[in-house]
Formats: sequence, C-alpha cells, structure tokens
Amino acid sequence: MGEGCEACRANINVTQKRIKCTQCSRNYHSECINFNNDTASRSEWKCPACTASCRKGGDNKLKLSLITEIKNEITSNLKQLEESHNSLLNEYNNLKSNFEKLQQNVQNGEMKLADLCAQIKKEQQWRRLSNLEIVGLPENSKESTSELIIKIASYAGIKLTDDQIVFAHRVQPMQNVGGCKLQNRTIKDNIISELRKTKGITTSDIGLGGPAKR
Ligand SMILES: [Zn+2]
Ligand SMILES: [Zn+2]
Repeated sequence: MGEGCEACRANINVTQKRIKCTQCSRNYHSECINFNNDTASRSEWKCPACTASCRKGGDNKLKLSLITEIKNEITSNLKQLEESHNSLLNEYNNLKSNFEKLQQNVQNGEMKLADLCAQIKKEQQWRRLSNLEIVGLPENSKESTSELIIKIASYAGIKLTDDQIVFAHRVQPMQNVGGCKLQNRTIKDNIISELRKTKGITTSDIGLGGPAKR
C-alpha cells in the first residue's frame, strides 16, 4: 500500500522507473507524468497537483495584493471626499448663520420702519386735529390771517393769543380758504363748539363784508 502510482493508480513495480514528489511525497511512474531524469531534477520535482496548487496560491497572492492596492486607493479617495465634504459643510453652516443674521437684521429693520410709519401717522393725525380751516374768508391784501383767527375766536367767546397760534396762512391764495395750526386740539375744539352754538359766523361779525362760515 502507498506504493501505487498517483496518476494511473497501478502498483509501481521495482523494475519500473519511479519519481517521488518533493512536496506531497506521492509516487508516480516516471512514464505516467513524462518525467525525464536528464532534463529535470529529481530533488526539486513537484507533482502536477502540487505544481497547480502552488500556482493557484501564487495567483491568490497576486489577487490579494491587487485587492489591497485597490482598497488603499478607495480608502484614500474616501478620505479626500470626507475632507472636502467637511469643508463644504463648514462653508454651508457659515453661510447659513450669516443668512440667519441677515434675516434678523431685515426683520428688525422692518419692525423699526413699521414703528416709524405708525408714529408719523399718529403725528399727522394729531397735527390735523389741531388744525382749523376757515372757508369763505374773503381775501384782503392787507389782512393778517392770525388777526382774523383771533377775531373769529373772540366771536366764539374764546380769548386766543398770538402764541397759541403756531401758524396761520391762506391754504390756497385767492380761494377764500384760510387755515391755522393751533397750539393744541382743545383750543380748536372749543372754538368749533362755540361757533356751532352761534349757528355760524358771518364776515360782518368780524368786521368784513359778505357771508362766511367755518
Ligand atoms: Zn502510473
Ligand atoms: Zn506532490
């Protein structure tokens, strides 16, 4: 047993030439595997199975080194991608926070603007409330609008002084419309309510000719 040829499975006769594999120690008929003692060395010979598995191992080693190389390349590419991704992310976050600040500024600006508009509107309303407009006032080249206003007020029973009139002027020259701005609304309201009681005022009431009303 164990003396058989690994190739043909037959016994190896003492008369037959044999060759032993240096790796797996299996025996072969020299004839069966075409071993020629003149061209090959008996001390280095490997059977076809061992030669094949050796080549396969070599192939595997080659494949492994190739795979390792590819893996290293992928790893370094991934690292580069990760770095550029991180820097992009940083940039994005910076932009985002800048944008949010800007948005906040715009919002604050809008709020301030709305406040200002409301304030202006209030002021305009207040100003209008203390304005007195007189319609049907014949224009006299030597007139003093302030004097006329004081006369009208005194007709209404209210003593008006110059410093209570902020300004008095013709609203539109030659159109019999005069106006004045009084110091506050109360003075104006008093004059109007007193004039209402007298059922109107005529120009003769204040020393002028022709009819006139508030
Ligand atoms: Zn054989
Ligand atoms: Zn072998």
